[in-house]
Amino acid sequence: MTQLTVDTLKQEILRKLISDKGREVKEATSKDIYYVLASIVNEEIKQQWFQTRKNYRDGKNKEVYYLSMEFLIGRMLASNLLNCGMLDTAKEALRELGFEPEDIFSEEHDAALGNGGLGRLAACFLDSLASLNFPGHGYGIRYRYGLFEQRIIHGNQVELPDYWLKNPYPWETRNEEEAVVIQFHGDVHMFKKNDGSLEFEYRNTDKVMAVPYDIPIVGYENDTVNTLRLWSAEVIHQNNGDGLLEASKEYYHDLDHQHSIEQISGFLYPDDSSYEGKELRLKQQYFLVSSSIQNILKHFKQNHHLPLSRLAEKVVIQINDTHPSLAIPELMRILMDDEGFSWDNAWAVTTNVFAYTNHTTLSEALETWSEEMMQNLLPRIYMIIDEINERFCKGIWFDHEELRDSISELAVIAHGRVHMARLAIVGSFSVNGVARIHTEILKKKEMRNFYTLYPEKFNNKTNGITHRRWLLQANPKLADLITDVIGPQWVKRPKQLISLLKYSNDSALVDKFDQVKHENKKVLANYIHQHLGITVDERSIFDVQIKRLHEYKRQLLNIFHVIYLYNELKDNPNQDITPRTFIFGAKAAPSYHLAKEVIKLINTVASIVNYDPDVRDRLKVIFLENYNVSLAEKIIPAADISEQISTASKEASGTGNMKMMMNGALTLGTMDGANIEIHDLVGDQNMFIFGLTADEVLHYYQHGGYHARDLYNTDDRIKRVLDQLNQGEFGVHNIEFKDIYYNILYHNDPYFVLKDFEPYLEAHELIERAYRNRNTWLNMSVTNIAYSGKFSSDQTVQEYATEIWKIKKV
Ligand SMILES: *Cc1c(COP(=O)(O)O)cnc(C)c1O
Repeated sequence: MTQLTVDTLKQEILRKLISDKGREVKEATSKDIYYVLASIVNEEIKQQWFQTRKNYRDGKNKEVYYLSMEFLIGRMLASNLLNCGMLDTAKEALRELGFEPEDIFSEEHDAALGNGGLGRLAACFLDSLASLNFPGHGYGIRYRYGLFEQRIIHGNQVELPDYWLKNPYPWETRNEEEAVVIQFHGDVHMFKKNDGSLEFEYRNTDKVMAVPYDIPIVGYENDTVNTLRLWSAEVIHQNNGDGLLEASKEYYHDLDHQHSIEQISGFLYPDDSSYEGKELRLKQQYFLVSSSIQNILKHFKQNHHLPLSRLAEKVVIQINDTHPSLAIPELMRILMDDEGFSWDNAWAVTTNVFAYTNHTTLSEALETWSEEMMQNLLPRIYMIIDEINERFCKGIWFDHEELRDSISELAVIAHGRVHMARLAIVGSFSVNGVARIHTEILKKKEMRNFYTLYPEKFNNKTNGITHRRWLLQANPKLADLITDVIGPQWVKRPKQLISLLKYSNDSALVDKFDQVKHENKKVLANYIHQHLGITVDERSIFDVQIKRLHEYKRQLLNIFHVIYLYNELKDNPNQDITPRTFIFGAKAAPSYHLAKEVIKLINTVASIVNYDPDVRDRLKVIFLENYNVSLAEKIIPAADISEQISTASKEASGTGNMKMMMNGALTLGTMDGANIEIHDLVGDQNMFIFGLTADEVLHYYQHGGYHARDLYNTDDRIKRVLDQLNQGEFGVHNIEFKDIYYNILYHNDPYFVLKDFEPYLEAHELIERAYRNRNTWLNMSVTNIAYSGKFSSDQTVQEYATEIWKIKKV
């Protein structure tokens, strides 16, 4: 890309400020500057975007399409500047013009088109695909409302709509000429043609227009710009000449109709890993896959002079969790009904095109749909799924006698429900889990019958994160220090961070890492002061748990420990402890009662602990509201401890753990998800592992033998904390936290909070001691950074590319 200097960029900003906004710099707002800078970046990008698309059109390359209901991309200005090689120049230019870069970047509203890890993974993958020169694109939905904005009012979570498009979004381009029609409902009519084959005709369908908005995905200093295509649902406007409406009755009917169509891309479902069986959600899923598959086939025909029977040579489609698995019957439908394929030929093509990523084994998150709803909303798709199911079940009956008794656990349609994971497995050539332990649990437990049927389909791809956003952009001080120490090659080859190991015992050098961490902690302390009016001690341990609020993630274990520490300080006010700041960020699904109770509890404990003079600033509890990508970028560089304390076997991978490791935080975690792979690399001596193992947890679930009440009765520390909840010590009303109390004692603590309490306490004691030994601590921290290159999504995407997608760099 063109190399702008600070001076030319400044001049360009000033020139555009006048031409676009009619203002001089002294009258300009941060927002003016944001738009002007975005527009300059866009000009840089557009040229490369055009060129990249042109290259892909020559038809030589196999391309991957990543279908996902969620893309949690966050802000784009700084990351686009970074990838264009302009970030430092731009920051300098902004400062010279009298603006703080962070103020300009934060004018952009986070694009929160995702809930958490799954959506953020999709965003990291796009960044890596482009940065590695892979021809790979995302397809998603342009929700008008993203994930709700969280406010904390009197300790409670309050949800506000996230109308992120209120101001123009500078990164998107509407592409009306690529719009396609999607059909819902209606009747399917079957005709026998002369040659004996069947023809299908759909009548009385509800038609919706899908209009794409394209967002450029800029590769890191490599001139590749891929595309994230987000579909928007619109009414198909019939041109009836004068366009006048005949009667007001019809006018209102039309408005209703328009509203119901626009609802399809209206809002992101805010349920994290469990889903409400809402027809609208099913509509959204079909809307995404039908528009994307139509578009993919159109481009295949334009770019490749090959018959559709050879689609799999040039196209591979990754489906991110089961949400887009209707893409499988949708491709079958188009191949058979529009392109004249026989069932067998269509099936041969389809099952060589799709690959499926599983993200969870939580049973409440395994998606199923009512057969009836599916049949009504998507009659032709239902027929095809039914046929897939028939053939699949027959195959088992005749070829796998050993599985006959398990047919209802394998069938795509069983007991009146369509099972999306089963559809995805049967229709894909690859099924992958997202961390080693997760894939093993899929093979040995959750999907063992499918693994018996299709051992060759199953494979592991451990998640990753883009080190460009999560280190270079979020923590430039650390990135610069690393480059000072080991040179700049790690930026293109993150595994070279391993060269840092040589220096992890050099005390003069690790002091510099300490300084960077300290400066980052100061910045976060300022943010906390600004937003909550609370002063935190920058020399205290910043102990961070940031992630969606879920019982299995066990924020409850964390806050129970805080209550325990508080009790200890009340009993022994002169106890000498290392000051601690516990930092939380978490959204709860609006309908998840218990999760919201935990948020309330954290805030209530905070309001007591933070203002108790006996505590004397040795303990602070901070809940930062509205956790999202931009807030994560602020917190992570300042973290000393990364809390990854899920009930073992429950967290498929986790990616927050990787982000914090890469920023020098030490993991306090269970042997779960990718924590295990972090442990493989850094060992016991460089992280704090505690608690039940996955095998132990699974054994308890299967055979019983755990009695939470026994722990309550025998461990005074536990009894005291629970009684405090029950007796209203933390809360205005004494019934406030009774549900938490009951869940633990009467539902036998389903996530083993009490069981892991003591080992968790002990791990915290080790942390306290380790933190006092500065050199050891810093050595551990640098060791973690050194090994974190393995968790760059560049590595993950490279593995997908060679082992699943079989695509090559352009
Ligand atoms: C990385 C990330 C997540 C995932 O965090 P986990 O700790 O893996 O659950 C969720 N939300 C945001 C905003 C993130 O950046």
